Amino acid sequence: MSCVSIYRPSLAVLDEPATIPFPRLFGNLKTRNAASDSALNRARLVHENRQCPCCNSVAIDPMELNDFHLNGAGKPIPGTATIVAFHCNRCLHEWPVQS
Ligand SMILES: [Zn+2]
Repeated sequence: MSCVSIYRPSLAVLDEPATIPFPRLFGNLKTRNAASDSALNRARLVHENRQCPCCNSVAIDPMELNDFHLNGAGKPIPGTATIVAFHCNRCLHEWPVQS
């Protein structure tokens, strides 16, 4: 004879959901769309300003604010900061973002 008891749920327990609800990992759909729109707008901005307006050089660096997102280790996530201007490494010309 086994010492393990057999579990027999009552009928009231069977009416409850069989799965445990988990919180959403990446937030709601609206937050995800805002994040993807932000990345898309950033890519468009970098593409539109890929050449210096003075010397046509492509050695351009974006100038960003310090409002970047942090990862789990507390390090900044590249590409999440707001671009406010661009800097040419050839002629040192700087120009603001046109929005
Ligand atoms: Zn230049």
